[in-house]
Amino acid sequence: MNESVRVRFAPSPTGFLHIGGLRTALYNYLFAKHHDGVFVLRIEDTDQSRYVEGAEEDIIESLQWSGLDFDEGPGREGDFGPYRQSERRDLYQQYAEQLVEEGHAYYAFDTPEELNDMRDRLEKSGNPSPKYDAVTRMSMQNSLTLPQEEVEKRLEEGEEYVVRLKVPRRETIRFEDEIRGFVSFESKGLDDQVLLKSDGMPTYHLANVIDDHLMEISHVIRGEEWLSSTPKHMLLYKYLGWEAPRMAHLPLIMSPSGGKLSKRKAESEGIPINAKDYREQKYEPEALVNFLAYLGWSPGDDSEIHSLDELVELFTLDRVSKSGAVFNHKKLLWYNENYLREKPAGELYPRVAAIAKEEGVEPEKEYLLEIIELMKDRVSKVEDFITQGMFFFEDPEEYDKKALKKWKDDSGEIVRKYLEKIVDLGEDEFTVDNLKAAVNELTDEMDIGFGKVAMPLRVAVTGQGFGPDLFPAIELLGKDTTISRVKTALERLK
Ligand code: GLU
Repeated sequence: MNESVRVRFAPSPTGFLHIGGLRTALYNYLFAKHHDGVFVLRIEDTDQSRYVEGAEEDIIESLQWSGLDFDEGPGREGDFGPYRQSERRDLYQQYAEQLVEEGHAYYAFDTPEELNDMRDRLEKSGNPSPKYDAVTRMSMQNSLTLPQEEVEKRLEEGEEYVVRLKVPRRETIRFEDEIRGFVSFESKGLDDQVLLKSDGMPTYHLANVIDDHLMEISHVIRGEEWLSSTPKHMLLYKYLGWEAPRMAHLPLIMSPSGGKLSKRKAESEGIPINAKDYREQKYEPEALVNFLAYLGWSPGDDSEIHSLDELVELFTLDRVSKSGAVFNHKKLLWYNENYLREKPAGELYPRVAAIAKEEGVEPEKEYLLEIIELMKDRVSKVEDFITQGMFFFEDPEEYDKKALKKWKDDSGEIVRKYLEKIVDLGEDEFTVDNLKAAVNELTDEMDIGFGKVAMPLRVAVTGQGFGPDLFPAIELLGKDTTISRVKTALERLK
């Protein structure tokens, strides 16, 4: 293993793992494995007010389901644990104090009312985005404005305080992003970020920087929404005397109708937003992974289908795009179809059998295997084997309305004539070849096209207007079932 490449996926357990989070995890995984490095899972759970029970389990299950095994993390302790920030609490306090001692941070005692007053005051004087910053801090209650004895007294008496970063008034903060190139921010636009909260917990910014350093993270690969936090992190690295990791900010995931793919947008456009939804909706994990890999990256040729191992080989950060990546649901289904087609029937069998059972049918294994084989290159989702293939198990109760449009005035006569031709075939003569030959005879005799027979025949036998290859399906259904269904249809569709 190449210990010099260490990356982390650092979700906050504030809800189910989002599809964008899974993509971030994937890119971290691909980058780590490409360099033979280490992929760390770190749970950023310092915001206790947003903690959601079960979220960590969901994250881990989603990673497992996708095949993204982490090398270190909760339950897989390496040399850099613990991997849950809530278990590292004391560590952060110590660094916060160091920053205060060295003059890069300060204690602030302002009450919520005082903070509100400050904002009101500034807004009234025409400042649209009031901040606690280099200017305003001097009129607030903190260790920069209060006499030292007063500060000590307040601390001793256990008054509530936070630790704030002392952001310089005028400084240009520059860093190089592996995807975006050089980026610069003016410190003037930043507020004096709270580093340690009054409950003694660090904020994301402090904990994130300390852990990335202590866990020897070489590359921070995360979503673009964190880009604007990076200047604060850069100041922290500088003040703590540490070298910052390389930074790479991934493009936003966009909704097909434009704008960032938010939860609300996704819902209104029928896009599953949580990794869990894809598990529950029975997508093929390989398809989702392949699809997500291409959501903001491409290998630079027109290849599209790649297994996780191939993606590891191909993945480099310089091929990640800067501009937003549009979520194309149809493309995901296309990937899903591809992976279903590639899987041997035997591998699909247990899942299809389970779905069949849920739907109340329990076909023989051999029969179901043949159905899977026959339908594999038609289905988009694994449940389609059963929902679209229900006619393999049950006589059609009714005929699909759209399909009935294919049942024309002369269809009854044509199907009756076809029935006459196949009714005398023996059980073992009931084969695709013979069934097709009978159609050909009939089309010659009546001087009509193939579809004139096949379409209504499909409706009669399956109740549907589309589906797997008709004659292999009929052969599988067998003579008795087929004949009886055709007779029923002739009765019912007179
Ligand atoms: N805890 C942050 C999140 O929830 C991590 C951001 C980062 O990777 O630095 O996404």
